[in-house]
Amino acid sequence: MARRRIIAGNWKMNMTPSQAVELVNTLKDLVVNDAVDVVYCVPAIDIVPVVEAVKGSNVAVGAENMYIEDKGAFTGEISAPMLVDAGVKYVIIGHSERRDYFKEDDAFLNAKVKKAFEAGLTPILCCGESLEQRESGVTMDWIRLQIKSDLVGVTADQVKSMVIAYEPIWAIGTGKTATSDQAQEVCKGIRDLIAEIYDTDTAEAVRIQYGGSMNASNAAELLSKPDIDGGLIGGASLKADFGQIVNA
Ligand code: PEP
Repeated sequence: MARRRIIAGNWKMNMTPSQAVELVNTLKDLVVNDAVDVVYCVPAIDIVPVVEAVKGSNVAVGAENMYIEDKGAFTGEISAPMLVDAGVKYVIIGHSERRDYFKEDDAFLNAKVKKAFEAGLTPILCCGESLEQRESGVTMDWIRLQIKSDLVGVTADQVKSMVIAYEPIWAIGTGKTATSDQAQEVCKGIRDLIAEIYDTDTAEAVRIQYGGSMNASNAAELLSKPDIDGGLIGGASLKADFGQIVNA
């Protein structure tokens, strides 16, 4: 069964609410493609206006983060039920910037993945190695450890519906893209791991994205690889290039 492609933008900490609506309107006609799932993962403050602005279009909205509790005394946090009520469908979990700057560990990310499913959100679970790890030859060991830890207690049916994003840290925001062979090798390794932990049906169903300086000129080559089902795009999601990636 062919996996449906999924192209998601990660806006990071960019776009004020009014700039966000302007960007959605600028991209509206460029991202039309019935064969692809298109997602904008936006800052929390942009969620409500962006959900409104994409109404009637082929774009779904994602959050960049969420907390593991439903409500309570957690000043500054946003819960999964809040996201769902606002119209959010996806949530990025375990982006390297959150792992690194905000010290989110795998046990915490595992709790987030489970909470996202409980609330009805689709997690986009990120994993990826540093340059040092790649150069030391431990890329796949590291990624296997991340994925195994982040999926403890997650069922096969849940994994079938989720998205995993392979994002080498050295390629994020650096302009240095992994070659399509490097990206394919790790995405296949992730799929093999899912087959090992679950079964081949689950491995064949889960969608695996590549992320890391994907842009209008390298997207087609990366997306031509058999185990790369889409992209998680940072910088290039804030401009017209995003439309070219969707249609690549
Ligand atoms: C990202 O932040 O997930 C990302 C892939 O960023 P960029 O495309 O800018 O490298």
